Amino acid sequence: MANRNLLIKYTKLFINNQFVDSASGKTFPTLNPANEKKIADIAEADKTDVDHAVAAARAAFKIGSEWRKLDASARGKLINKLASLIERDTEYIANLETLDNGKPYGDSVFDIACAIDTFHYYAGWCDKIHGSTVPADGELFSMTLREPVGVVGQIIPWNYPILMLAWKWGPALATGCTIVLKPAEQTPLTALYVAALSKEAGFPTGVINVLTGYGPTAGAAISSHPDINKVAFTGSTEVGRLILAAAAKSNLKRVSLELGGKSPLVICSDADVDEAVQIAHGAVFNNHGQNCCAGSRTFVHEDVYEEFVKKAVVEATNRKVGDPFADGIQQGPQVDDKLFNKVLSLIEAGKVEGAKLECGGDRWGKEGYFIQPTVFSNVTDNMRIAKEEIFGPVQSIIKFKTLEEAIERANDTSYGLAAGIVTKDINTALIFAQSVHAGSVWVNCYDAVTPQAPFGGYKQSGFGREL
Ligand code: NAD
Repeated sequence: MANRNLLIKYTKLFINNQFVDSASGKTFPTLNPANEKKIADIAEADKTDVDHAVAAARAAFKIGSEWRKLDASARGKLINKLASLIERDTEYIANLETLDNGKPYGDSVFDIACAIDTFHYYAGWCDKIHGSTVPADGELFSMTLREPVGVVGQIIPWNYPILMLAWKWGPALATGCTIVLKPAEQTPLTALYVAALSKEAGFPTGVINVLTGYGPTAGAAISSHPDINKVAFTGSTEVGRLILAAAAKSNLKRVSLELGGKSPLVICSDADVDEAVQIAHGAVFNNHGQNCCAGSRTFVHEDVYEEFVKKAVVEATNRKVGDPFADGIQQGPQVDDKLFNKVLSLIEAGKVEGAKLECGGDRWGKEGYFIQPTVFSNVTDNMRIAKEEIFGPVQSIIKFKTLEEAIERANDTSYGLAAGIVTKDINTALIFAQSVHAGSVWVNCYDAVTPQAPFGGYKQSGFGREL
């Protein structure tokens, strides 16, 4: 049940299975984006705390440690135990997530279910990862051995806090790595709570460490740390570049990057328009548009363009915005003032550059970072709203004539995370899927992400694969 009056149990750094103050004693506030009020003061990690956490993770990874001696199948049982503790506490964690992030309570419950599925998926892998035997020339016996990478730094964003944690922890734990995770400064609460659950589940001391704090300090200390073997990052392309440079300058640690996107969704003339409108609406408005895969360029065939725009506007106008703890709400506030202002300024750019504002276009209410569901038609490829990642509830509807042209324009971006197409023609769908430069391509659906399928970007949307 939704409940905003929560006791906040954990606000300190989690190192060596203990909650501790930061070395400097500094804290930072985490805010409720629905009313801009402080929820709690959180310990602010810096380089010294990163050193402590890395030392803990390194000790836990040492040959002969409790973690290294654990049977692979026992690692799987621990991961499953963690999943069941998260399931037990779903209601509390979902309320915590909604309070800190602003997403509707039902969305938080859904994210938690996806996180649980992710942990179960990885638990199954633990004792099924093996090398091969190699028919080497001569009197030799040759084999490959799969080994854990080591101490893994993980830096995650605020848009799906618990799900991003699960995507990072799942594979690292399944393979026997140890972890130093930094959640986003906007949403530190659920990571700290799940850290406490990891101790209850029985993970040995030092295997999992969680440092709350800012990117340029704690995050940078992770990406440049000489004793971290890999950094897994999800966030903006801009910060992704800094991470890669820091890895290169320090110890050439491995890097995987999941970055931004400006994903195209193409609606063909043979599509059922009502169905296409629904798919396109969810593609861009889910999670308030704060989705790296957001279908933020809606390409619509000229034959169905006018009908599509009319129906898309009805859909956006009916979207229920408001208190994320209230029943039936589909959209809460954006996560913070910085994003709120960025989205509003891109909406202004859309108006100034000549797109037709069909609905929305302003803030919603008087407090909190709420933005009206906004639809622009007559959007052209050169406009900022068609080129830049908005990360807000803004649909840009663009007209096209032929599939070839749509593919070319869909690919005319530095990003390549995801794409989608709505059509009844399997040939069209397959041609599009093979021609569009995107890590995931969805046909007659969108954002269909499951733990069993890989996820990640082309071009400046990053490299390496999750799941
Ligand atoms: P961000 O890149 O500023 O922050 C993400 C994380 O990086 C946070 O934990 C932050 O503290 C940390 N960080 C910031 N500066 C850092 C630095 N110098 N060194 C190390 N760490 C640093 O991004 P944001 O604005 O919080 O999140 C939105 C962005 O993330 C969007 O661009 C979105 O597309 C992207 N994103 C991508 C995916 C994906 O899977 N590809 C998923 C979610 C979000």
